[in-house]
Amino acid sequence: TRWVYAFGGGAAEGDASMRNLLGGKGANLAEMSALGLPVPPGFTITTEACNHFYAHERSYPEVLGAQVEAALAGVEALTGKRFGDPEAPLLVSVRSGGRASMPGMMDTVLNLGLNDATAEGLAALGGDRRFALDSYRRFIQMYSNVVLGLDHHLFEEILDNHKDRLDVTVDTALSAGDWEKVVADYKAAVEEELGEPFPQDPKAQLWGAIGAVFASWMNERAKFYRRMHDIPESWGTAVNIQAMVFGNMGDSSATGVAFTRNPSTGENRLYGEFLINAQGEDVVAGIRTPQALTRAAREEMGDRSPSMEEALPEVFEQFRDVVARLERHYRDMQDVEFTVERGRLYMLQTRNGKRTAKAALKMAVDMAAEGLISREEAVMRVDPASLDQLLHPTIDPASPRDVVATGLPASPGAATGAVVFDADEAQRRGGAGEAVILVREETSPEDIHGMHAARGIVTARGGMTSHAAVVARGMGRPCVSGAGDIRIDEKAGVFHVRGRTIHAGEVVTVDGSRGDVLSGAVQMIEPELTGDFATLMGWADGFRRLRVRANAETPLDARTARQFGAEGIGLCRTEHMFFDEHRIQAVREMILADDEAGRRAALAKILPMQRADFVEIFNIMDGLPVTIRLLDPPLHEFLPQTEEDVRAVAEAGGLDADKLWRRVRELHETNPMLGHRGCRLGISYPEIYEMQVRAIFEAACEIAGAGRTAPIVEIMHPLVAKGEEMRFLRNLTDRVAKAVMAERAVELPYAVGTMVELPRAALRAADLAESAEFFSFGTNDLTQTTFGISRDDSGRFLNAYLEKGIFEKDPFVSLDQEGVGDLIRIAAERGRAVRPGVKLGICGEHGGDPASIQFCEAIGLDYVSCSPFRTPIARLAAAQAAL
Ligand code: ADP
Ligand code: MG
Ligand code: MG
Repeated sequence: TRWVYAFGGGAAEGDASMRNLLGGKGANLAEMSALGLPVPPGFTITTEACNHFYAHERSYPEVLGAQVEAALAGVEALTGKRFGDPEAPLLVSVRSGGRASMPGMMDTVLNLGLNDATAEGLAALGGDRRFALDSYRRFIQMYSNVVLGLDHHLFEEILDNHKDRLDVTVDTALSAGDWEKVVADYKAAVEEELGEPFPQDPKAQLWGAIGAVFASWMNERAKFYRRMHDIPESWGTAVNIQAMVFGNMGDSSATGVAFTRNPSTGENRLYGEFLINAQGEDVVAGIRTPQALTRAAREEMGDRSPSMEEALPEVFEQFRDVVARLERHYRDMQDVEFTVERGRLYMLQTRNGKRTAKAALKMAVDMAAEGLISREEAVMRVDPASLDQLLHPTIDPASPRDVVATGLPASPGAATGAVVFDADEAQRRGGAGEAVILVREETSPEDIHGMHAARGIVTARGGMTSHAAVVARGMGRPCVSGAGDIRIDEKAGVFHVRGRTIHAGEVVTVDGSRGDVLSGAVQMIEPELTGDFATLMGWADGFRRLRVRANAETPLDARTARQFGAEGIGLCRTEHMFFDEHRIQAVREMILADDEAGRRAALAKILPMQRADFVEIFNIMDGLPVTIRLLDPPLHEFLPQTEEDVRAVAEAGGLDADKLWRRVRELHETNPMLGHRGCRLGISYPEIYEMQVRAIFEAACEIAGAGRTAPIVEIMHPLVAKGEEMRFLRNLTDRVAKAVMAERAVELPYAVGTMVELPRAALRAADLAESAEFFSFGTNDLTQTTFGISRDDSGRFLNAYLEKGIFEKDPFVSLDQEGVGDLIRIAAERGRAVRPGVKLGICGEHGGDPASIQFCEAIGLDYVSCSPFRTPIARLAAAQAAL
């Protein structure tokens, strides 16, 4: 087996298509190298080697050693340097890199190959002793931390002591002699901690680093990141070993990161940051504040330090050409890392850049307009779930702003919450449902769980490409980074900013679009659904086959649904209309009635209210289909449950308290989910459903009679299990519908159908289809009844199931395609066999889940129905499923 793939010198053994084997970083280094771009030579150890490592008690394939030796010799030949040779020392970086990018989650070691002898050799060679010792101390710290497991505070403390002694504040103020002393102290500290000296043998260093990178695949932050982003453990990471180039060789050297377009807004302008005389990790770590790449960006920021365009004009021109070429080559926005060594440019990484939803939309639409990609590709480029970010509120520009701090607009959107300073506390309180804003000096991968639980993030340090900024954008959390005036005093539980003091727990609002932190809660406005959003959604609508409806029962929901492009209502739950304060009295009277006559009298009071509801909704939906589900929950849900509440309700409603209490106890069920509910109510008390059908048709006739477009009414019966039930309900519905239409002398088309939410209904779909014209898969209940799990109680064990890998995903969020999906497939097939045109839809939570929508497309359902806010997500997901 081949475990190692080389790149460099204008050629490569791998290419961009081999991302699974070489990881994203390795595959793209190979691709760039083969394109003839300036990439330091190196080689990639495959992800299969990583899997081998874990399958064989953390050991390597036998031939790996020889393959690494051979590849290393190739790098030596290309660079003219030799690994471990003080005369011409070759240094390498050892970098992790899996299939999917996991920024900062795994480990990298730079400057490997340095020891006492090669450090002196490097000094002699470059004629720069300071640089050599700076590199050596970086290496000792990084290697000791990543490979030997020593805390980096140990080294920071030593360095701080030296700085205090020398009375300097910045690293660049240390001389060669100073660094020599730091190096000596570092080595002594390592020996004291570990009882053996810092490893001097470069080969031992190399294998130590390779092992550490593989091991970092299983560190806690990497595991957490994978869980959050659905990245399987089985993918493994590759290891990239690459000749070092030095951005810390003086003022004609530099290092930086760039995006070919703005990852926050999508604007088509080169965007990024760099640092003169620095090594790669300095930019991301926020140790020094980086400078802008372009003159225009510097001027906009009002910064005085020169941009790369101004400081290194020739290299900048070359760089601009290289990244433009990369964008054309990959046909997508690139996120690159580069280093300039004494005026020479080197590319160290490229990948399709992460972006906000807003930027993704703009880039997709722009690139289609530029002819770089097709409209189909543009539609495929936007992650449907990410639209959620755009559908969220931003700050009302008209509302007063009490700005307490200003930083960089690192991740757009706005959020209000209580200030917390600690990631664990953010996780605890955020997890309990509280809105919190995480305020940190800067964030590191250890804070990721707290960032996830927070509504917004603020950091005092770090640029637009800092850890906080990148992670926040990926999570869709608003973030302000580099709010430099903030002084956090965690012990006192406060932060100071421009003479003000903000205490932990105080409410602030993060405006990630402007880069402001505001005091208190601020008026928000609803998102703008025009422009690029409308354009892309228009294209998506043209590509999709599935119709998209919304679940809505209030006029507000119905309006939102239409605004978001729903093509009808797929589920209108009538019981929600009963909970209104005034109506519930009549509902209770109906429940308390001794006989049918009593019930009918109470129902007569509800009828006009219910009719008015439908008139309003039909008006809003303006001729679109509306599926109305008749009463579903057990009646006790409308009654007070404790004796105390019973007394209060009885008094307020003028009811007989004893009778009410007796009825409450009579209606008590051991297992209400499987009890007297759904169509069982309509069958035992037909007058309830008769009233509802009458209200619906009277409303529809009223609208048609007034000359407006009548709705396409679809009456849906819940919880049907048998063909006989369906036949009874069908007859009831037809009888009342015909009666009302005859009274009003109006003829309206309508359909009668059922929700399929019981396994028996799915299996006996043929019986149901005899009298049902449509099926709507109620996948919430169908999931409950198929698994025999009550959703409300699943919280107790679901996490254990997810952690132990028994469930890959929560089946109430993403459809269980194997089991529940099989029932849906069976029902569709058997239903169609009896009634070829039977209309099929889905109306559970799953109707808005992209993976579930993919399934619905695959089995040819007619529509999906989801919550109004998710309809754009469903429209896009449906288009992607069809393409
Ligand atoms: P991450 O995935 O966390 O970005 P990388 O492997 O890309 O980790 O490396 C971290 C930093 O080290 C980056 O800034 C990168 O540019 C720099 N770096 C990696 N390899 C080299 C190299 N061969 N020469 C100089 N700098 C390097
Ligand atoms: Mg990188
Ligand atoms: Mg149900």
